[in-house]
Amino acid sequence: MRQLADDVFQIALTPRDGVNAYLVGDTLVDAGLPPHGKRLAKQLGGKIQRHVLTHAHGDHAGGSKNLKAALGVPLLVGARDAQAARTGVPDTKLGAFGRVTAGFPGVEVDTELHEGDTVGDFVVLDTPGHSPGHISLWRERDRVLVAGDVFFNMSIFTTIPGLRQPFGPFTLDPELNRQSERKLAELEPSLVLLGHGPPVTDAAAKLKAFVATL
Ligand SMILES: [Zn+2]
Repeated sequence: MRQLADDVFQIALTPRDGVNAYLVGDTLVDAGLPPHGKRLAKQLGGKIQRHVLTHAHGDHAGGSKNLKAALGVPLLVGARDAQAARTGVPDTKLGAFGRVTAGFPGVEVDTELHEGDTVGDFVVLDTPGHSPGHISLWRERDRVLVAGDVFFNMSIFTTIPGLRQPFGPFTLDPELNRQSERKLAELEPSLVLLGHGPPVTDAAAKLKAFVATL
């Protein structure tokens, strides 16, 4: 675990920050692929009170079922991704193929989240596009933003870091996602934490430059 800000830790689940989860206060954000759930439960037992998903795709919600079974913590999911979380069947542009490849073990959802809800000392922001119910978590006092897959900060083919659009075939509505990218850039965050790639530091300028190219 790597500390990035006050009470904020990155848990890199694969090499080169390929798949990330985050511990923010006593909340686990995302749980990686199915094999990662038990590992996270062992690592975080006693430390977490709840588990939040940025969105219901198999590389974020894959470990959730095992984690919840091991630790008994409630699961919180953006309202429009709750059904995908329960069934393990996400909506993607790839149709049946995408539903299988981005699918995961369905898991019981305890709370459906909406814009303005709070999770610990973070506020929930609706950031749809990559998935219908994708959410981000924002802490204004030190401008920390956990933004899931609204942006990628690496190429999944070369693993070279750098801001880019999320993987196209799994991004249901790219135009809606671009609106979410602009919404997050306007916050002028100092630190942005993503599902894929290293933390984005000095993020306000980088996000501003990125969305200017859209
Ligand atoms: Zn992802």
